[in-house]
This record gives sequence, C-alpha cells and structure tokens, in this order.
Amino acid sequence: MSTCLFCKIIQKEIPAKIIFENEYTIAFLDINPIADGHTLVIPKKCSKDLLSTDDLYLNEVALTIKKVSNILNNSALKPWGFNYLSNQGEMAGQEIFHFHFHIIPKYASNQGLLLSTKRELKFSLDDVYKKLTSKK
Ligand code: AMP
Repeated sequence: MSTCLFCKIIQKEIPAKIIFENEYTIAFLDINPIADGHTLVIPKKCSKDLLSTDDLYLNEVALTIKKVSNILNNSALKPWGFNYLSNQGEMAGQEIFHFHFHIIPKYASNQGLLLSTKRELKFSLDDVYKKLTSKK
C-alpha cells in the first residue's frame, strides 16, 4: 500500500473533490485554496516531479490542465485568467512529492497567486547563453 497522500486520493482511500478524471490523470480541488477553484492535476502513475514523469503521463497532465481550465472558464466562477504552477524540490516550495500542477484562477490582479522576484544574477545574459549552448 502506498504512503503517498496523492496516491491515496487516486485509490479513493482518502476523499477529494474530484472535478475531472480519466485513465491517466485526476484533477481535484486543493484543500487549502489560494483562490476559488484552485485545482491540482496529477498523473495516476506516481513520480516525484516533472523530470521523473513518463512522457505519456506528462502529455496527459497537459491535456487535463486544458480540460480543467475550460471547466473553470465555463463554470459560474468565471475567472479572468490562470496561473499555472509546479514547484519542483523543497527549496522551490514542493511539499507533496507526487508530481502535480496547480491551476490557480485569477479574479483580480491583487488576489490569488502574487509573484515577487529577487534578482541575484551571477552571470551576464551572454555568459548564460554560452553556458547553455556551448558543447563541453
Ligand atoms: P506543493 O507545495 O506544490 O507540493 O503543493 C501541495 C498542495 O497540496 C498544497 O497546495 C496543499 O494545500 C495541497 N494538499 C495537501 N493535501 C491535500 C489533500 N488531501 N487534498 C487536496 N489538496 C491537498
């Protein structure tokens, strides 16, 4: 038996407010929503993050994100837009190590997910480009 919380939701061992489900993915309301309709989309095959997710499941997650966004858009909630977010790694804020995408509806510019940035750049844009494109 899996100890992963989201696997337990897939197995229906713990309850969740499921709004879409197919063979590969499941989408349910976040228990601690940042905005009304905040939904998590997960693959039914457990992997800890995006990089370790099989391409098939990654593709299906993307398709489900689109389906759920349409469900939200066509609902009475009527969001203005969405922030799509996936935290990878503890330092990036990941708490549940079963890959998931957050769909966070936006209703006003000063509500929901607010992004702040702190720039501490070590390299110039040219140097970064070289590091990414030059062969070792
Ligand atoms: P992250 O920090 O990206 O790993 O996000 C984990 C998310 O899972 C948080 O937004 C939690 O509120 C959410 N969460 C934790 N437990 C549950 C649960 N039982 N049902 C629905 N969402 C949950």
